[in-house]
Amino acid sequence: MYKVKEIYYTIQGEGFHAGRPAVFCRFSGCNLWSGREVDREKAICTFCDTNFWGTDGINGGKYTASELAEKIKSLWPVDHESLFVVCTGGEPALQMDETLIHVFHDYGFEIAIETNGTVELADGIDWICVSPKADTEIIVKTGGELKLVYPQIENQPSDFLHLDFKHFYLQPLDDKNQSENIRKTIEYCLANPQWKLSVQTHKFLGID
Ligand code: SF4
Repeated sequence: MYKVKEIYYTIQGEGFHAGRPAVFCRFSGCNLWSGREVDREKAICTFCDTNFWGTDGINGGKYTASELAEKIKSLWPVDHESLFVVCTGGEPALQMDETLIHVFHDYGFEIAIETNGTVELADGIDWICVSPKADTEIIVKTGGELKLVYPQIENQPSDFLHLDFKHFYLQPLDDKNQSENIRKTIEYCLANPQWKLSVQTHKFLGID
């Protein structure tokens, strides 16, 4: 059974597919933090703002592969063969196996994953977005986009340009210094045009 925190229909807010309608499937669990506040200090990834613990979100639960495909299909407004599903988390690669990818493709879904890049991926995922975290080793070194939160002391953009991604995005860190972070990110992209600016449009549009 696949453990899923929530599933909902929305618009992808960031990165290469920004603006594109998609069903988001948020898998429970992550290998870099338990998801519980009491464990945050000992987590590898400490600035997470996502609730991925448990299965109690909208449409959350435990699903077989076909049940999960049916639930996702039920949220898409038209012919499901054009359906775009974004698998996120938590760390979706902990659960996305070849069986699930086969079933999603049998339904005609186009499959994207948003991963921290530290877990090996099953074959067949159509769009891979890696978002590196500090103090981790990236083992997913090829894909559609690499999206780096900026600035981070531990992760410099130049450390990633040798990897095999079609697009490289910098996304301003969303903390109390957000205005400053946006300015620095724009400056970096202008000086290093291999990098494109990714803005979390869903946050200022007020969509999930
Ligand atoms: S890898 Fe992603 S989901 Fe996991 S703790 Fe970090 S930000 Fe949160």
